[in-house]
Amino acid sequence: MQKIKQVKVGNVKIGGGAPVSIQSMVKNLIEDKDAVINEINDLEREGCEIVRIAIPTRESTQFIEEIKKQTNLPIVADIHFDYKIALDAIEEGIDKIRINPGNIGGKERLKAIVDLAKERKIPIRIGVNSGSIEKDLEERYGQTPEALTESVKRNVEILEDMDFTDVVISAKSSSTLFTIETYRRLHEILPYPLHIGVTEAGLLFGGTIKSAVGIGTLLADGIGDTIRVSLTAPSVEEVRVAKEILYALGLRKKDFEIISCPTCGRCSIDVVKLTEELKERLKKLKNRNLPSLKIAVMGCIVNGPGEARDADFGITGGKEKGIIFKDGSVIKTVKEVELLNTLMDEILNYSG
Ligand code: SF4
Repeated sequence: MQKIKQVKVGNVKIGGGAPVSIQSMVKNLIEDKDAVINEINDLEREGCEIVRIAIPTRESTQFIEEIKKQTNLPIVADIHFDYKIALDAIEEGIDKIRINPGNIGGKERLKAIVDLAKERKIPIRIGVNSGSIEKDLEERYGQTPEALTESVKRNVEILEDMDFTDVVISAKSSSTLFTIETYRRLHEILPYPLHIGVTEAGLLFGGTIKSAVGIGTLLADGIGDTIRVSLTAPSVEEVRVAKEILYALGLRKKDFEIISCPTCGRCSIDVVKLTEELKERLKKLKNRNLPSLKIAVMGCIVNGPGEARDADFGITGGKEKGIIFKDGSVIKTVKEVELLNTLMDEILNYSG
């Protein structure tokens, strides 16, 4: 394991001790410029930090300038096969290029991209995946993490030979275990930041779980510098899931963390409804400069305050009434209908 190099995509740092950044990819066609602009701005509001756009043709690079003018996030151009698209995208002011060096048409063409990227000081993501392993490597190692790791190594060395090291690496697979194993190997041998994710993870529910397991396992081991959750769902969902993964690992701090019990036969309040309503009310307190708080919604007094004693505040059901607790001790007893109003007053009056 070695020190990870830092690269900069627009104003976002990747690797070298920078916080793990969240990426997503635009789902609209670049030709539908206004839809792309709206999508990028929605992604930014949701917490996305870097956005990637598929650039399928040279003609489509003409939209980059206007899209950049009307949005704030650094933009990565996703390019396959035609090196001229990459050159045009760089000329149009793109912040990073994602290519698979193996499908860009040979070393000379790759060199043209590298030279221009160097001149404009933009990084290149080498994005290979289990479907793009070179034939000789596949024959030697089969379709394995070892083969994919070797494929990445080979591509990195080509860029290093061109004296280019402003590099981010991705080596994805739709298999969670394959992905984990590959990135573990890459982390051991290469000093470049890793863009991690399970590709083609699937629909929102299953894809969220696959991504959380794959990305979460790697991040928990200190592997990964930027993440993309890849879902068959609107792009903002990818960002929501990515944020939750980072929250779960303590890599980001929420303004408010809600914990809620699963409910059981002892439950004496509507935990689901109260938790959903609490979430909405807390959203409105964003930007009020309140301390970061953990708030519990528990179904019963028997276990509620005790199990949630690490929460700053909590509510729980009592006998025909509701109870507010703070640091595990009951501070107020109110009617159930008054629970949330009273809790919100307590939160607003809290100064740490
Ligand atoms: S807090 Fe009470 S209602 Fe909720 S799961 Fe535990 S015992 Fe059941």
